[in-house]
Amino acid sequence: MRLRHKPWAKEYLDSHPEYVLTAPPSGHWKEVFQNDHPLYIEVGTGKGKFLDKMSKKYPEVNFIGIEKYESVLVTGVERLVENPSDNIRFILGDVADVLQYFQYREVDRLFINFTDPWPKKRHEKRRLTYQSFLTLYEKVLRPEGEIHMKTDNQGLFEYSLESMSQYGMKLKNISLDLHTSKLASENVMTEYEEKFAAKGQPIFRLEAAFAN
Ligand code: SAM
Repeated sequence: MRLRHKPWAKEYLDSHPEYVLTAPPSGHWKEVFQNDHPLYIEVGTGKGKFLDKMSKKYPEVNFIGIEKYESVLVTGVERLVENPSDNIRFILGDVADVLQYFQYREVDRLFINFTDPWPKKRHEKRRLTYQSFLTLYEKVLRPEGEIHMKTDNQGLFEYSLESMSQYGMKLKNISLDLHTSKLASENVMTEYEEKFAAKGQPIFRLEAAFAN
């Protein structure tokens, strides 16, 4: 992703603690949202457009986006300030630290959307579907919880299918062209997905669960 440095981003994020949690309340999300609705998280949320649309489509679900770059996340927070949702929060942080953000088996669903493919073999450990990340996801997801992944990148998709099946995960609803599949009517497009769809590129999608 191309990053435009925004020197004011940190101050802006700090001024919106109602949306951006710098000290995520692991185990206390019910108090944050003032309800016990399911928790759906997006790792590498970017500008948060997907979560914004999801939070309005599913008001009975609580959504949390994790993004490591202030200059990217700031756009998502600006959008929320203009058009508020009370069932969405962001964490400015690294997915590698997810165990600090959520308690064991606290999360109901985890979205991995258009994550960086890191195509070089020597960068394999950075892919968000590398087995060390799956180990983290397994800890925070409820036993019946699911991972939903979308990507435009065939290499990353093939890698993720392999990584997840080698981990012993159960895979379902796999699509090699989401927008022409029966799953399209329910699909909510992410920011990156809109760009790829406009170019006519196929979108790969899968659902996965740990075999508990
Ligand atoms: N999910 C969005 C979408 O589909 O439009 C954004 C996709 S963008 C290609 C990937 C985002 O993931 C970037 O904003 C990047 O900073 C973030 N990201 C990548 N690795 C991350 C990590 N380990 N922790 C937090 N964010 C991460």
